[in-house]
Parts: sequence; structure tokens; C-alpha cells
Amino acid sequence: DPRIEGIASTIRVVPDFPKPGIMFQDITTLLLDPKAFKNTVDLFVERYTGKDITVVAGIEARGFIFGPPIALAIGAKFVPLRKPRKLPGEVISEEYVLEYGTDCLQMHIGAVQPGDRALVVDDLIATGGTLCAAIKLLERAGAEVVECACVIELPELKAFYLHFSSAKCEVLDWD
Ligand code: 5GP
Repeated sequence: DPRIEGIASTIRVVPDFPKPGIMFQDITTLLLDPKAFKNTVDLFVERYTGKDITVVAGIEARGFIFGPPIALAIGAKFVPLRKPRKLPGEVISEEYVLEYGTDCLQMHIGAVQPGDRALVVDDLIATGGTLCAAIKLLERAGAEVVECACVIELPELKAFYLHFSSAKCEVLDWD
């Protein structure tokens, strides 16, 4: 799709952020370009329209930027998956392993029902650990995870995440 190259060109790469050795993919520069931002949302909306998706689950924090416009356009509810102690109601939690230590995602009990068909949205997949935790939360609530959608993948890590779950992850440079 010719739109993908235009989107890719708006993403800024910041070396050594947040620590030495990391090439940080910065999507805030994509958001400064209304055409690239719209094309990004449109590509996902085109892919997921007519797939009976009832819930879009966005991962804190950048999944909160791309998830809601996709949810509105396909007529699905939006559910935030948040870091610990942010959600005020009763939650279920899923811990996951990071390079150093662990992190955790939480979801409000009752936000997702058995029979819901879910799309998980985040900006970037690296190892897939974060998406894996999101999938587990949704499945524990009885939802079927149809797919995960990310704007960016780190291709050198693809070998890891191809095996992490039964749910497929689609990134914007899909064939
Ligand atoms: P994973 O769990 O797949 O190893 O890491 C993915 C998570 O880390 C995502 O939530 C993503 O937002 C964040 N992340 C890791 N590296 C980067 C990066 O270079 N740029 C951005 N925007 N997010 C990153």
C-alpha cells in the first residue's frame, strides 16, 4: 500500500532513548502529520471493518492514541488496558516479564464480556510480551482475541513473537 511508506517516513528514531543502545521509535512525529495519522487509522479501519469486532483494547499509553479512532470507526467499544493502580474500579491483572524485572497490565472487571470479539492495539511490538499479557487478560474475561494491531514492528525480534500466542499480530507493513 503506497500510504505505508509515507507513514514510515514520519516516525522519528531517537538513538539512546530511554537508555544507551536503544533506538527509540517515536510516533509523536507521526501525530504531527494529519495525513499520516489519518492514513494509519484508515489502514486499520479498512482491515477490521466487517469483522464483527465488538471491543478494541488499547495498551497504555500509545495504544490510547490509535485505539479510540479505530474503535469509533468500526462501531466497537474501547477498553483501556492500564498500568497498575490507574483504574478506579475492580480489576483483573496480568504480570509480564521485561528485560529487567516485571510489569503488569490491568483491566476493569465487566468491561469485556464472554462472547466479545477483541482487537488489541498498541504502537509497537518488540518481544510481544506486552501483547501477550493483553491477550491473556481478554481471554480470562471470556473474549475471543481476533488479532493484535501495531503500527511498528522491530523485525530483528520477529522470531520471538511469532511463537507467543495463537492470536496473530498485524503491523502496518503487512504484505
Ligand atoms: P514488547 O512487550 O513487545 O517487548 O514491547 C512493546 C511495548 O514497549 C509497547 O507497549 C511499546 O509501546 C513499548 N516500546 C518498546 N520500544 C519502543 C520504541 O522504540 N518506541 C515506542 N514508541 N514504544 C516502544
